[in-house]
Amino acid sequence: MNNYTRHVLASKAEQLTADYKTRNPNYPTHKGMDFTDDAGKCVIVAVADGVVDSCRSDVIGVDHTYNTAGNYVRIKHPNGIYTRYLHLETGSACVKTGQTVKAGAKLGMMGNTGDSYGKHLHFDVCANGEYVDPLPYLTGAKGFGTNTAQQPEDEPAYPELRKGDKVVLAKAPLYAASTSSKKANTVTGIYYIYADGIINGRIRITTPKGCADCTGWVNAADCKTDKPVNSTPTTGKAPAPVALKVGDKVRVRDDALTYSGERLSSWVYDTVFDVQQVGTLSKNDYIVIGLNGQVTAGMRLNDLTKTS
Ligand SMILES: [Zn+2]
Repeated sequence: MNNYTRHVLASKAEQLTADYKTRNPNYPTHKGMDFTDDAGKCVIVAVADGVVDSCRSDVIGVDHTYNTAGNYVRIKHPNGIYTRYLHLETGSACVKTGQTVKAGAKLGMMGNTGDSYGKHLHFDVCANGEYVDPLPYLTGAKGFGTNTAQQPEDEPAYPELRKGDKVVLAKAPLYAASTSSKKANTVTGIYYIYADGIINGRIRITTPKGCADCTGWVNAADCKTDKPVNSTPTTGKAPAPVALKVGDKVRVRDDALTYSGERLSSWVYDTVFDVQQVGTLSKNDYIVIGLNGQVTAGMRLNDLTKTS
């Protein structure tokens, strides 16, 4: 059993399955705590008094790309702290935006919607525009009534963006800082999240491959997230592909996927391979690489660079 004095499940039998980032070496970007219900009831309740400021109940099934929160309820607490309850069962949210709720009020049922890999509740706490460790709020070490920090009234629900996530922007304002009021530019196209952390509703982006610098800040709400399905460069930064022949020595570009879209082991990116076969598939160049006569993978031509 846990030692919580506040609860997010009616059963009070929260079973932690994935901890907050600072206690989670396997998932250091995890902004909340994941729970299943040891009692099997799966009724989700408000952790403290507040007002429902957004909720959603119409997401059907798992969606790792766009509606990553799935069905959710977000509660604004009197002091400006927000709590979120994600991945709820479709149609189960039993509160409405604007509704006042008391600690322990039923919000919905645990589900497996959005970016979820099994039925669970993702619970997180946002204070001062940043996701903070929920644990002290559950144990009672921190209160919901002592922090007077305020968040903007109109803060939208953000996608769950993490460092490296691919996002699509359409004429989105770009800012030099999280606090800039004047936009520096507008950006359109595919970008990647530069670092975790939404500040003042904004998050840092970077251009695809070959540029490690931060491009600037965009509104997190403007980011359409997309699952990386291939690593085809989207800017002119990658070198033009060089035709290859059997016997050439090549390296694999960082983060490149195989021709069929599979991830490779990290050592592959540090290794020089032999080109074993050159062909075309679906009118695209298809290169088989390997070592000592053994096949390692089939790759796209533009994910390989010839070594001298
Ligand atoms: Zn989670």
